[in-house]
Amino acid sequence: MNRRYRKTIIAGNWKMNKTLSETRAFAEEIKAVIGKPKWCEVVLCVPFVNIPAAVRMFKECRIAIGAENCHYESAGAYTGEVTAEMLKEVGVKYVIIGHSERRQYYNETDSTVNKKVHAAIEAGLYPIVCVGESLEQRELGVTMELITYQVKAALSGVSADKMRHVVIAYEPIWAIGTGKTATAEQAAEVCEAIRAVIRKLYGARVARAVTIQYGGSMNAKNAAELLAQPDIDGGLIGGASLKVPDFMQIIESANQE
Ligand code: PEP
Repeated sequence: MNRRYRKTIIAGNWKMNKTLSETRAFAEEIKAVIGKPKWCEVVLCVPFVNIPAAVRMFKECRIAIGAENCHYESAGAYTGEVTAEMLKEVGVKYVIIGHSERRQYYNETDSTVNKKVHAAIEAGLYPIVCVGESLEQRELGVTMELITYQVKAALSGVSADKMRHVVIAYEPIWAIGTGKTATAEQAAEVCEAIRAVIRKLYGARVARAVTIQYGGSMNAKNAAELLAQPDIDGGLIGGASLKVPDFMQIIESANQE
């Protein structure tokens, strides 16, 4: 983390988990213990149907609400989809774009990721753009090339001024939901490389200010070491964001003075 130049963001990705009543129970439980995180922003990305209620429930404890996806068009015949403007209007602040599960199961491509990034920014949302390599790609030694390509493709046409709204999440696919975390060195190396790509595209000032998260089996035990890396400015957390004690411990790791 480097709080002097950029925001630290701890974001939970609930995926397809928690009913409305389970969301309410989580809100009650975390409200009792969270206090006011001074040094990081806390976000919960929840299923669409629970968003309006979650915005109300988590307001009191200053947890911002994110969505897990959006469509890139602003309206139209796209059954089952939701626009960025719809999300903005119900109080969403962040939206995850290009999560590897969306790339794998729902044909998300670098091109749709780019269109969604534009749609999110246009609507006034903060996209959390996910990039990451598979185990096969890592073993082939093409991680840096792939990540460079994914970052450039996702940000194509995004102006330097608009970069204030963009968060990047480095999520090695082999570490997501597997319990197999990247080592702090592996994660730091790629996050540093992502910042270098942004520096080349937009210059030092923009690169210094962009929040780059790590995601992939981040948990209560490994969070502090990962967050101690200068280019890791937070986490995108799946499994460990579903339980208050685990999520709280990650928030506390990011909230040290
Ligand atoms: C994720 O879904 O973005 C993620 C990192 O999941 P997990 O923490 O469970 O690996």
